[in-house]
Amino acid sequence: MIARFRELFEQRHARARALKRQGRKVVASFYGLTPKELVHAAGMVPVQLVEDRDSRYEAKGELLPYLCGMSRNLAGQISAGVLDYVDGVMVATVCDTNRHLLDIWVRRRAFPNHWLVRTPAKDDEGGLSYFAGELRRLAAALGRVSGQPVTDDGLRGSIALFNENRALLRRFHAARPTAGISAEEAVYVFAAALTSPVEEHNALLRELLAAPPARAPRPEPRLMLSALNLPMALDVIRMAEKYGASVVTDDFPHNARYGSAEVPTDGDPFRALARGYLRRVPAPGLYPIEDRATWIRDAMDRASAQGLIYLVQLYCDAYAFEYATLKGRFDRWKLPHLKLEAEATPSSIEQLNVRVQSFVESLL
Ligand code: SF4
Repeated sequence: MIARFRELFEQRHARARALKRQGRKVVASFYGLTPKELVHAAGMVPVQLVEDRDSRYEAKGELLPYLCGMSRNLAGQISAGVLDYVDGVMVATVCDTNRHLLDIWVRRRAFPNHWLVRTPAKDDEGGLSYFAGELRRLAAALGRVSGQPVTDDGLRGSIALFNENRALLRRFHAARPTAGISAEEAVYVFAAALTSPVEEHNALLRELLAAPPARAPRPEPRLMLSALNLPMALDVIRMAEKYGASVVTDDFPHNARYGSAEVPTDGDPFRALARGYLRRVPAPGLYPIEDRATWIRDAMDRASAQGLIYLVQLYCDAYAFEYATLKGRFDRWKLPHLKLEAEATPSSIEQLNVRVQSFVESLL
């Protein structure tokens, strides 16, 4: 069963091309503040751009070496032609790097369409109205590309489908600490949500939740992993398990968009969508830090996790700044945690081994 999620994720490019052959259009998102419901309501398939471990991409990106690996990797994937099926990309600003990556993509004509999602940092009435207007502008642009205008009812239907996905993923995360699903398998369940049609992922999740694998005993110490980069997350999970720990829950910043509260479905759907997204997606600088710190602590409590590994992408100021603030909260709560900073390269990851081992041993 889990293998099907893994296949969905690992075969994502081939599957997207198959959808194209069936006449579907595919729109990519760079980070979570790009509402996929709009893309779905316009009759297209939303997919998240995710990092892919392959050294060829580093060289092909032709970006400055001190930019984050995420940006260089995505630029490399574009140059290598693996995203040739993408009809347009939506980029929501998280940091200066990703904002200007969009400019580079526009200049290089990386995709047939490029949209900047201008997301306000405030969630007051002014921010909400502005963002609802921005979503209407995006919806009109998406409708012109697909030929299917986004209607209020269509958008409500799409919101309901993604809400179902959020609710199912929340149930999955609640079951995970005690179900017989390994941390590695859980990454694929989640990653498939980012890159597959929502209807397909919902059906698979329902099937999985109806008959979860039998409970397996978990070795201690039990850990939570916070990570942006999925290939790096898999490396750290394997490392922690090698030293006898188990990762029983996770905090993938892409993920909280699904795991957080559902988007409201009453009233004007554009305002509802704006309200649902504003300051809910845990993008650094755009998310109330107290909420994020508390969410991590509560998730650890629910999973009986004794320690947290907080994995930051090297050269990523946004997440580094966020960690600096979170650390104050974690220290005050005496929450054992280990911050790791690395690139998604074998040598960079290899250096983490000793630190992970020491952290695991400190919790025994
Ligand atoms: S948030 Fe960090 S990892 Fe993401 S694009 Fe910006 S610098 Fe790169």
